[in-house]
Amino acid sequence: MNYSRTVIARVEKYGARNYLPLPIVIARAEGVWVEDPEGNRYMDMLSAYSALNLGHRHPRVIQALKEQADRVTLTSRAFHNEELACFYEKLANYTGKSMILAMNTGAEAVETAIKAARRWAYRYKEIPADAAEIIVCEGNFHGRTTTITSFSSSEEYKRDFGPFTPGFKRIPYGDIEALELAVNRNTAALLLEPIQGEAGIVIPPAGFLTAAKQLCEKNRVLFIADEIQTGFGRTGRRFACDWEHVSPDMIILGKALGGGVMPISAVASSDAILGVFEPGSHGSTFGGNPLACSVAAAALEAMEDEQLDERSALLGERMLNRLRDLNSPIVREVRGKGLFVGIELDRPARPFCETLMERGLLCKETHENIIRLAPPLIISEEELDWALSRVESVLEGT
Ligand code: PLP
Repeated sequence: MNYSRTVIARVEKYGARNYLPLPIVIARAEGVWVEDPEGNRYMDMLSAYSALNLGHRHPRVIQALKEQADRVTLTSRAFHNEELACFYEKLANYTGKSMILAMNTGAEAVETAIKAARRWAYRYKEIPADAAEIIVCEGNFHGRTTTITSFSSSEEYKRDFGPFTPGFKRIPYGDIEALELAVNRNTAALLLEPIQGEAGIVIPPAGFLTAAKQLCEKNRVLFIADEIQTGFGRTGRRFACDWEHVSPDMIILGKALGGGVMPISAVASSDAILGVFEPGSHGSTFGGNPLACSVAAAALEAMEDEQLDERSALLGERMLNRLRDLNSPIVREVRGKGLFVGIELDRPARPFCETLMERGLLCKETHENIIRLAPPLIISEEELDWALSRVESVLEGT
């Protein structure tokens, strides 16, 4: 048995089975490349579900990590730390929002936005106690807590996890008429992904985000964009909402914010909305810790300096054009924006991901029949072409 197999066997022996990873162990990584313990090299076309927009071990992020590790790593919010100040300032400038709240994981940031929206609605919209509603979309993915699971439309995420949290109403994704019908006096917010990632890179009809934002404004409903997967240049713009020049009332961020190194998430919004939290009403022991904040500040700087949104737009065009020319009867649709692309097949995608792995390319199926391609945004043109040749040869069966 080789070393990788023994590692996998140990994980399977002691670990809960809540994932079904491809049978590869990653022992080292740099940029877009990873290596297993046997020395085989692979290109990472998943980027840890878009957390690795800067690639593996970006030098500026690693330098910030090391320097901060030598100074102070954790203060809790019982005391102040300079790195939180620096991070808050940078993220406020980056998002154009006036107030930030830092958490650790994406799901925690979504929970934070839900709490803020409900409080805002009771205090400023005078919705009766416990009657606030939040509108969400079919096919949504916002995380795994019990409240977030409550409004999922996916049976596999929910089975035997009830009872669920009330107060959510689901509409078909991208359907403006359904949204109009769903809004009532008790609607606090609309929560959506501007492009649905886990659902299989589902893009709403053009103009939907703009129309939804206008409808929200007209009805004093908060427009909350979950940009955890789509943010930081992934779709070819700083945020996916920027494609329609929509400015959400709250932006939920995570994943790439941590530079592929630390878990850190945040909600960016206005003083009026995030001002609903007074001391004692919300928090997290590790939220806003100096190690994560210094890493995130370095990541924000690097993403801005390297203009990753523009790279993603340019290389994404190249990727989509080539994939749309695929000569394969099993491909139903190729869709995407920037370096965020889904290839929908007429059959299960898993065996193709396994074959791609054997040929040195790592990607993962989402749902049963969609291959998601989302490389680090620092990928070079040559590296992208190398990857696309492999995808072509596997899907065209050559
Ligand atoms: N929201 C979106 C859009 C996501 O894609 C994810 C994770 O895939 C989450 C929320 C949850 O983030 P986390 O896994 O960090 O809790």
